[in-house]
Amino acid sequence: MKIIFSLIASSLLFVLPSGTNASGEVNVYSYRKPQLIQPMFDAFTVRSGIEVNVVFAEKGMLEKLRSEGINTPADLVFTVDIGRLSDIKNAGLTQAVKSVSLERDIPASMRDTENHWYGLTSRARIIVVSKDRVKDGAVTTYEDLGDPKLKGLICVRSGKNAYMVALTAAMIAHHGVEDAEKWLAGLKSNLARRPEGNDRTQVKAIKEGVCDIAVINHYYMYKMINDPDQKSWADAVKVIFPNQDGRGTHMNVSGMAMTRYAPNRDNAVQLMEFLASGKAQQMYAQINGEYAVKEGVPLADPVKAWGNFKRDSINLAEVANFRAEASRMADRVAFDD
Ligand code: FE
Repeated sequence: MKIIFSLIASSLLFVLPSGTNASGEVNVYSYRKPQLIQPMFDAFTVRSGIEVNVVFAEKGMLEKLRSEGINTPADLVFTVDIGRLSDIKNAGLTQAVKSVSLERDIPASMRDTENHWYGLTSRARIIVVSKDRVKDGAVTTYEDLGDPKLKGLICVRSGKNAYMVALTAAMIAHHGVEDAEKWLAGLKSNLARRPEGNDRTQVKAIKEGVCDIAVINHYYMYKMINDPDQKSWADAVKVIFPNQDGRGTHMNVSGMAMTRYAPNRDNAVQLMEFLASGKAQQMYAQINGEYAVKEGVPLADPVKAWGNFKRDSINLAEVANFRAEASRMADRVAFDD
């Protein structure tokens, strides 16, 4: 008996509590890193008394939900990138949530037309350039990144990374497959080195003189500015919001959706509404340096200092439709080799 008990106990460490007898909790599967959402979950628990149990995953969330089916313990899923939310919706693994307060707090452009997913924060994919080595006006658009004039000057992460795939998908949406592929091949041939690391790795490389230009999500600048070990990387570069004279800067969102078989639906709705409220939205802005989706929420200081900018207003669901093509395109141009 003892052995059986310990087996059960240890296996419980790796699964969420089941939905039965769970009025005081809500269960979350998340692709977002723990430190980026835990403060908001903690604030929710303090306010509501409802515990938030989180399972963080690098990948495989859709497959996990599918295999668990009606027995899933998960009430909510959190992801970055609109495409992953729409993938989970299109697999029939989410349900609609109708809520007056969600509709009030989250602009229509930032939520699913059928109320299956809601955006919580948005982020700009910006270009950063060496303050010392790149002249003003030398790079102003994503299209410039594919121009031979920038040969050997650019560092980026893998072309298969979700942020890069989304940017390539946006290029396909704007220019068509053929021209987008020429652009991606051009970008590849402008690289100073093989893609490696994350967004911040590229800024470090600029600081170290490996390259002069990189493409990153804006909040990583905020993170580096506030990290004593990384501040010098951020200080070495200038922030450029691309395509200001045209369609505007490529944006993406992080967001949430209710699972189809959520066992703690009422608690989950409360958490969704809290995260869209002014209090949590302000935390997203101040702790993570992201753009709140709720209007009127103050930005973190350095983010505010970069000023207003024109955002690409293309429908994100339309961009998401080109993700698979964008990923294949990265393979076709051997982006990472
Ligand atoms: Fe990120």
